[in-house]
Amino acid sequence: MRTAVFPGSFDPFTIGHKDIADRALRMFDKLVIGIGYNIHKPGIAGMVEDRVKAIQSIYADDMRVEVEAYTGLTVNFAKRHGASFIVRGLREVKDFEYERNLADTNSAISDIETVFLTARPELGFISSSMVRELSANGYDVSKFLPCI
Ligand code: ADP
Repeated sequence: MRTAVFPGSFDPFTIGHKDIADRALRMFDKLVIGIGYNIHKPGIAGMVEDRVKAIQSIYADDMRVEVEAYTGLTVNFAKRHGASFIVRGLREVKDFEYERNLADTNSAISDIETVFLTARPELGFISSSMVRELSANGYDVSKFLPCI
């Protein structure tokens, strides 16, 4: 059984994230979507639970997907789930530089392999921060969010 974790902030989980998760499901038997958060940020735990529920409802019919919030190191989260792989998406060169550093750090401290999937060209411009910004300014962002 090949298990991977797909970690992120997912604030919110966009159609770009869903595309990466769906493509990862073609390679792995089980995918654990992990919402990493900082335990020291006040009030964040409740907001994270809402995010967990929203992603769970997207995958309600897919038994291969689990969604869970976590704090601490992603490699420890992966080990708790028996996962040997971390999946991350790459949109642009800026992502690559940051992601390579993370992947190198994670291989230095564990034997967990990071697998990168490049964003589909038509989805690569979508980011959670862009969606938050549009939403805060009254724009209907539903076209950037997965249908439930
Ligand atoms: P983080 O805060 O850990 O970067 P994000 O929620 O922003 O978390 O992103 C999680 C993962 O999804 C990252 O690997 C990011 O590069 C990837 N990602 C985000 N948006 C897209 C997109 N539109 N297409 C493909 N991958 C994406």
